[in-house]
Amino acid sequence: MCGIFGVAGHREAANLTYLGLHALQHRGQQASGMVLWDEGHIREVVKRGLVVDVFDDKALQYLNGSPSGAAGGLTIGHVRYPKREKHALQNAQPLCVSYARGPLGVAMDGAFVNYEEVRCQLEEKGAVFQSETDAEVVMHLVAHAKAPAVEASLIEALGHLRGGYAMVLLAEGKLIATRDIYGIRPLVLGKRDGIWVVSSETTGLDLIEADFVREIEPGEICVLQGGHLESHFPFAKAKRACCAFEHIYFARLDSEVFGCSVHEARKRMGAALSRVHPVSADVVIPVPDSGVAAAIGYAQAARIPYEQGLIRSHYVGRTFIEPQQSIRNFGVKLKLSAVRSVLNAKRVVVVDDSIIRGTTSKKIVSLLRSAGVGEIHMRIASPPTEWPCCYGIDTPSRAELISASHSLEEVCTHIGADTLAFLSPTGFKEAMQPANGFCDACVSGRYPTQLP
Ligand code: AMP
Repeated sequence: MCGIFGVAGHREAANLTYLGLHALQHRGQQASGMVLWDEGHIREVVKRGLVVDVFDDKALQYLNGSPSGAAGGLTIGHVRYPKREKHALQNAQPLCVSYARGPLGVAMDGAFVNYEEVRCQLEEKGAVFQSETDAEVVMHLVAHAKAPAVEASLIEALGHLRGGYAMVLLAEGKLIATRDIYGIRPLVLGKRDGIWVVSSETTGLDLIEADFVREIEPGEICVLQGGHLESHFPFAKAKRACCAFEHIYFARLDSEVFGCSVHEARKRMGAALSRVHPVSADVVIPVPDSGVAAAIGYAQAARIPYEQGLIRSHYVGRTFIEPQQSIRNFGVKLKLSAVRSVLNAKRVVVVDDSIIRGTTSKKIVSLLRSAGVGEIHMRIASPPTEWPCCYGIDTPSRAELISASHSLEEVCTHIGADTLAFLSPTGFKEAMQPANGFCDACVSGRYPTQLP
């Protein structure tokens, strides 16, 4: 779960990437970075922190420099959400090295399921690692490849790796963008001023007023230089398996992901939920921001008034972002407050996108009880999350996933609601239909790739 962005040669490449990353900030708030290629010279700014903090005046001035070539600079950028790695700055991306054929920058969203195995093999051959990122494995494999051009080296490298990923590379004056063969992680192509731009989500294109052109296809390797695109499909095709959690929780509401509007998909999930799990209630409220569209869908289908019963502070990040339980608990209180006038003595349907560990819902129920709510009917707009993600979404181990080891009644008791219901797998499938082939391993346990 990270955001990636790239511009294939533009005088304003650094500024456009800064804006693009800003529109992808919801995909990761721990670190932000950008690498710029200017006629073989690399400029790089990679730090911990939000996009607005990392790219201050000084950083942007440095990155902008004065691109020497007529083509202007090429950039790749990254916002990082920690997964299995620790917090160290070394794990912030893009990673940038100098190897036999010049400078190489890599930024990646996702994870390789055989990361450990490939890293061990490389270490046995003497490779030295500076980070715990999947991207560094790619760099080593590219550097070891015998191929004459970076795109061929990348193809050789990816042949050793399995997983769910979207990736951008900068080398030899080219921006290379690729997705795994299943299309698990998202990546789209856009154009601005005739120049190719890539972004994890369309929201990155919208902000810089680039036109959306198309998704990068699963397994496609795009070599981009200015307005030129060369496309390769070196691997055997696989069944499309786009990550459903993008639509459940992760992507921004105004994005089109996998050719399907996130807002509309979430509304459909909410509407399906209301049809299968109706309840007599006075008001429907969302858990902001993740439950908003599903709550609108639920309220419209159930013909129950929609209200804002919980207010979210916009000065705290997503609850999960701090990976320590103590901070996460505290975060819920910091983040949400109850509107008594909406809730007092009412029968309330509370709609959220998912329950992972059950910590958030429990806090919310207790917050609502202290605001004087009459009844709390918790409705979750996805099926129970019972399996960890191996493709970059930060879900904890199975042992920590509350629905993996507790019945519906037990989860309801744990969170303290009067009733609890999840969207059924069938309702979920219908809501996700337009995405045309998705990965639901987190709810079904059916993983599209072979696992180690
Ligand atoms: P909890 O059940 O306390 O673990 O938290 C579940 C809530 O966190 C959900 O309502 C989502 O809004 C949000 N959430 C779900 N998955 C993630 C994730 N991978 N990263 C950050 N937040 C998440």
